[in-house]
Amino acid sequence: DAPANAPGANATFELGLPNAVKGHVVTRLPPEPSGYLHIGHAKAAVLNQYFARMYDGKFLVRFDDTNPSKEKAEFEQSIIEDLALLGIKADATSYTSDYFDRLQQMAIQLVKDGKAYADDTEQELMRDQRMNGVASKRRDLSPEESLARFAEMATGSAEGKRWCLRAKMSVDDPNKALRDPVIYRVNDLPHHRTGTRYKIYPTYDFACPVVDALEGVTHALRTNEYRDRNPQYQWMLDATKSRQVEVWDFGRLAFVYTLLSKRKLKWFVEEGHVGGWDDPRFPTVRGIRRRGMTVEAITQFMLQQGPSQAFLNLEWDSIWNTNKKVIDPVAPRFVALDKEGLVRVKIVSGEGKPAPGQVESKEVLKHKKNPDVGTKTTFYADEIFVEQADAASFQQDEEVTLMDWGNAIVRKISRSGAADGPVESLEMELHLAGDFKKTKKKVTWIAAPSDVTPVTLLDYDYLITKKKLEEDDKVEELINPKTEFRTAAIADHNIRSLAAGTIIQFERKGFYIVDRAFDSSKPDQAAELILIPDGKASSI
Ligand code: ATP
Ligand code: MG
Ligand code: MG
Repeated sequence: DAPANAPGANATFELGLPNAVKGHVVTRLPPEPSGYLHIGHAKAAVLNQYFARMYDGKFLVRFDDTNPSKEKAEFEQSIIEDLALLGIKADATSYTSDYFDRLQQMAIQLVKDGKAYADDTEQELMRDQRMNGVASKRRDLSPEESLARFAEMATGSAEGKRWCLRAKMSVDDPNKALRDPVIYRVNDLPHHRTGTRYKIYPTYDFACPVVDALEGVTHALRTNEYRDRNPQYQWMLDATKSRQVEVWDFGRLAFVYTLLSKRKLKWFVEEGHVGGWDDPRFPTVRGIRRRGMTVEAITQFMLQQGPSQAFLNLEWDSIWNTNKKVIDPVAPRFVALDKEGLVRVKIVSGEGKPAPGQVESKEVLKHKKNPDVGTKTTFYADEIFVEQADAASFQQDEEVTLMDWGNAIVRKISRSGAADGPVESLEMELHLAGDFKKTKKKVTWIAAPSDVTPVTLLDYDYLITKKKLEEDDKVEELINPKTEFRTAAIADHNIRSLAAGTIIQFERKGFYIVDRAFDSSKPDQAAELILIPDGKASSI
């Protein structure tokens, strides 16, 4: 039996938490309101919710709002919306800032117990000392003096700002996370929830374990790059005499040609390299949803990744392929034709040919293999459009199949200019008695006089040109110069009634999501549809 955490072992396995008791499990997602959620956060969110449901427990969302330099109310709101876009619903929502008074009391108790001290070592020097296992000159400050400094910090004065509070864990433990980490620091920027009430803020390292315990979290899910910090997490629980919390870690998610960092994504937004946080090129929850990623696919994919500890740089193909399997059975089928070089075809003869100027209609299935998807009206006329690429491939007297109609024989090909110039128009003889199994070409077409609808088809490339970004890569040097591709097309009239967000297939083109719906008050304005990667195209 291969271990469930073997790289690539993403088949089926038992996904479970250690020491979980049905009805008593509490999990939590602690997003920092410093940006929009990305696909990495989606993994954490999906797993947390999954385990809470699996054990009939509770799932909490707690905003980790301990750093006013990075956080904003706007991001709290967007994260709530992003979670909704993921189909994630918390049983309760809270804020680390709800606990600021208690955290402060607990920090004071730590000092009194000789487990924390105030320090004014300069940042650079502190970093060096921690690196080299050297004690701070303040390490043996008396509790009274540390408390006085902490009180000074709380005023936010110039003197207070020089100090921080550190846990007295170890000077030289081989695990550097245990070398007296900072637990409180001064920040005199206003906090989006508590305003100017506090000038000191707990660090994540201190606040997270303590508040986990206060909120009754039984299982804290963390990405495994924090594994070094697990003993530190445990130390905080012990030192504050808190309840025990089980830490369960999982592999951090990463994708090729992608940045999964709120800070770096923000740079793209601010520099105007994308239209916003919901840009379809973005790995944000909004970005991928806008590009046609479904909640079902995200959930399935993340659960498949499940307990994998590997830090994988995944190909986008894998998740888009999961998505394709979700949408293929249910996406209604329609027709779009590239506008450039569009060819008008006159049906000149044949049994069943519509009378000149007459438009006939028929109800046909929107999805041939799934009648539940419903029916659509297809129009037939003696003048139709086909794409230049199809027309240019036709031979004189070739029999082809007009999809959802029947066979037709190409009787006349008119080209402009040279013999191999573009096709200008065609004439066909309808041959409905012909066998569609015997034709090589199944051609998409649209009846010319039938409310042909303007659409723009959008496709995207990666924002950056390097597959795997290294820590010291300069993103600004790796910007892909052209990442948006627009194709003008016409679509059948059924497109007119599709709302934004609808996922469809254009026959022979691929899956699309309606990004800007057709607006009947602006009939000349093209509807916009984004190509949904299907995990096959190598550009995705
Ligand atoms: P960023 O660096 O993008 O700001 P973060 O880890 O600082 O990410 P948080 O808001 O603190 O963002 O994270 C909330 C939760 O999401 C945490 O539990 C974190 O471990 C998890 N998470 C963040 N990025 C990833 C990722 N790439 N893969 C899996 N989980 C992630
Ligand atoms: Mg964080
Ligand atoms: Mg981060």
